[in-house]
Amino acid sequence: MRSAIYHGREDIRVEEYPEPETGPNDVKIDVSACGICGSDLHEYAAGPISIPDDEPHPVTGETLPLPMGHEFAGRVTEVGSNVSEIAVGDKVAANPVIWCGECRYCLEGEYGLCESNGFVGLSGWGGGFSEYTTVDRRQAVPIPESVPLEYGPLVEPFSVGLYAIRNSEFSPGDSVAVFGTGPIGLTVVQLANAAGAGPIYAVEPRDFRREIAAESGADVTLDPTAESALDVINADTNGGVDVAFEVAGASRLSTIRSPQRERAAR
Ligand SMILES: [Zn+2]
Ligand SMILES: [Zn+2]
Repeated sequence: MRSAIYHGREDIRVEEYPEPETGPNDVKIDVSACGICGSDLHEYAAGPISIPDDEPHPVTGETLPLPMGHEFAGRVTEVGSNVSEIAVGDKVAANPVIWCGECRYCLEGEYGLCESNGFVGLSGWGGGFSEYTTVDRRQAVPIPESVPLEYGPLVEPFSVGLYAIRNSEFSPGDSVAVFGTGPIGLTVVQLANAAGAGPIYAVEPRDFRREIAAESGADVTLDPTAESALDVINADTNGGVDVAFEVAGASRLSTIRSPQRERAAR
């Protein structure tokens, strides 16, 4: 089968790769769509970062060259002998997280914090930039027949936004500010909107992202390089929003021109 294989920085090749065998706990997926994550771009441009290079990954035991792609969905074509909850023909998205099952965090059920964690499509065990790949039964997330398969890759990034909202003190009707509307920030905007947020303020320096934020349900979009977003939000909400999400993850924020900061510096 064909697969996009990571060989090293700026070296991804579409080539023949052995079709995976379905183990007793596995689900084999005919991949329909796979997203290109920001971390894939980082691996391509500046990697290997989390792709195992000299040392094999502690759980998968694999090193590069490795298939990439961790945000994917498709139809199940085969299930292992122990798998009864998922059937051939089902639509599934992948939960790509790999965990050891033995460290303190895994034992506490916090496998996302696993000390040896990895990802299908980065650390071994196949990947979504392939015609077929297998995942463990626990990593196959059923998606309803009514949801088009090309939306499946969004399950992984949306789960990040959903986790943020569920872990915040958000309740329906609350006013919300989202700082940074890259792909993950946009999921927060859409999910807050779907969850019944009051006014949603999206703060984002890039024009095209502010436009998508507005399409995604932001009521007010603010360019922090043109005006003080905090002044606008504070005035508008009588002192601040109920819940704010920092989704920029950029240290460059401090270099973004802020009229307020410039006034303070004078
Ligand atoms: Zn990702
Ligand atoms: Zn672990």
